[in-house]
Amino acid sequence: MKIAVLSRNPRLYSTRRLVEAGQQRGHEMVVIDTLRAYMNIASHKPQIHYRGQALEGFDAVIPRIGASVTFYGCAVLRQFEMMGVYPLNESVAISRSRDKLRALQLLSRKGIGLPVTGFAHSPDDIPDLIQMVGGAPLVIKVLEGTQGMGVVLAETSKAAESVIEAFLGLKQDIMVQEYIQEAGGADIRCFVVGDKVIAAMKRQAKAGEFRSNLHRGGSASLIKITPEERMTAVRAAKVMGLNVAGVDILRSNHGPLVMEVNSSPGLEGIETTTAKDVAGMIIEHLEKNAEPGQTRTKGRG
Ligand code: ADP
Repeated sequence: MKIAVLSRNPRLYSTRRLVEAGQQRGHEMVVIDTLRAYMNIASHKPQIHYRGQALEGFDAVIPRIGASVTFYGCAVLRQFEMMGVYPLNESVAISRSRDKLRALQLLSRKGIGLPVTGFAHSPDDIPDLIQMVGGAPLVIKVLEGTQGMGVVLAETSKAAESVIEAFLGLKQDIMVQEYIQEAGGADIRCFVVGDKVIAAMKRQAKAGEFRSNLHRGGSASLIKITPEERMTAVRAAKVMGLNVAGVDILRSNHGPLVMEVNSSPGLEGIETTTAKDVAGMIIEHLEKNAEPGQTRTKGRG
């Protein structure tokens, strides 16, 4: 197959591994800088141009779209879809998962366990919002944040009120969430490919920190997940419509709670921790599923 990898940087671990795994399995791998792809959407024959040439003959595309380029990246991916190229994850599913609010609403509709979460727009509603999610301690999250940035633990209702006020004053959309203390600063990253969790790791926050992000000094280790956690992760990915997803789960007293479903999960942490060939399994998934012209949505969405 001829496979495009949409990525801003060919030197990133995940990009390199996908290229390597594809080549090892006999495929032609082409890295395309997402922001340098340009499109002709007026013609009857949708096209993508790249460095002066029309892209042709691709069977599949692997989107590795960073949060900061979601909008343009999804447009490029949609163009691939309209050309009949099979996407590892569809553009609609990626947009869905990138909107944290929408993602949680969709997951809750399907009865997937979530931390109690509230949203509000007006500062006047803050005290009631805090009550609604069960009072302090609680976690406040900027909707736009990644890698734990803009995620704050407020230990008292007073602290929560001032933090929320500050964010709203800065015109930042936020959500307010029950703090899952019993998770002990740890979460579980379940790597879903197709309808299976193919690898899982536990991420533990460093001492004095509740955010387990590896970028914030968290450490990763192997973990055996329960059948319930496995099922929750697979269902969450399915609800979002993602073939490949990193589903982040908190272990609570009342079962697994999904925190986030990531549509471009990094490979470095999970491959290093589990010693599994995750990139190879992703390519294998494409081999089984990529049939040119088979995109369900054809980019309508
Ligand atoms: P980001 O998407 O920026 O990584 P997350 O929502 O994943 O933000 O939060 C970052 C980290 O904070 C999580 O990995 C988890 O360890 C911790 N965390 C987030 N929400 C909660 C919560 N409701 N209860 C306990 N810990 C949480």
